[in-house]
Amino acid sequence: MKIFNIIFIFILYFYSHPIFSANKFNLVPIEVSKNVYVFLGDIDDVNNNNGGAISNTGFIIGDNSILVIDAGPSYLYASNVIEIINSYSNLPIKYLVVTHHHADHSFGISRYLEINTEIIMAEAEAKRYLKYGNRSLRQLHNLIGEEWLLNTKINTFNNLGKKYPINLDLGNRNITIELFEEGHSDGDLIIKDISSNILFAGDLVFNQRAPTSPHANIYNWKNYLDEIMNKDWDYLIPGHGNIIKNKEDILQTKKWINFIDKTAKEASKNGVSALEIFNKGLPQIIKKYKLGKETWYRDLPILINKYEFE
Ligand SMILES: [Zn+2]
Repeated sequence: MKIFNIIFIFILYFYSHPIFSANKFNLVPIEVSKNVYVFLGDIDDVNNNNGGAISNTGFIIGDNSILVIDAGPSYLYASNVIEIINSYSNLPIKYLVVTHHHADHSFGISRYLEINTEIIMAEAEAKRYLKYGNRSLRQLHNLIGEEWLLNTKINTFNNLGKKYPINLDLGNRNITIELFEEGHSDGDLIIKDISSNILFAGDLVFNQRAPTSPHANIYNWKNYLDEIMNKDWDYLIPGHGNIIKNKEDILQTKKWINFIDKTAKEASKNGVSALEIFNKGLPQIIKKYKLGKETWYRDLPILINKYEFE
């Protein structure tokens, strides 16, 4: 009798407290170099288990202040990151660099505004964040539920008059921020920590998974990838996927965008629809990428449509 009571109480507790059992990120930073850390995002698509935390977040600690790279998908995520950073150092988080406006990189911004962090984001991307943010937020609500997005808001912030490249000093630690216009997004920011020779490339580089291209200018993006390959760096932190040491790993992104671009251009020239292409089955190259199928189905029609209007 007693054991049944215990089981009953346990079941009751579990079902009446679903929030306690879910909505946890389990964030553990990886130290790439002394005082340079990365939280690797989930390699899966946005879902109810990962709470949208699919992109990478970084932080760099100088002698006077801290810089964070990307805000993550929500207020909750940003709160978790800030809490962990505070356990490493009590220096102020002076800068947040948002590499571009996509929700998985930008929706934690409101949390950083509460601690007076200066937000650095390309002007074109800040505009997109403000213009489309609430719509994306509603879509994200529908996808992963409200608990993950508690307190997440799209807020305006002061981001005027920034001239790139930006040079910052965190205290014996120099950082350069470069702007790459109309590549993966309208304005991708790349961050270099000079002393460790580490480059944070945002979504200009994807590792292990299919690159997404709903707002991309693929012609520019390809050139930017060549530029990134030729730059001097020891480690590259992509927007998604594992830390890159070998320059050849950047070719994964290039091969994908080349293929989807060529397919879309040919289709629009010959009046072939995305559905007709899908009916022929999945091309071999697409199968090699994590989330290849999902990304192919989502991005190819967008690209064909874009070329039809050019
Ligand atoms: Zn992106």
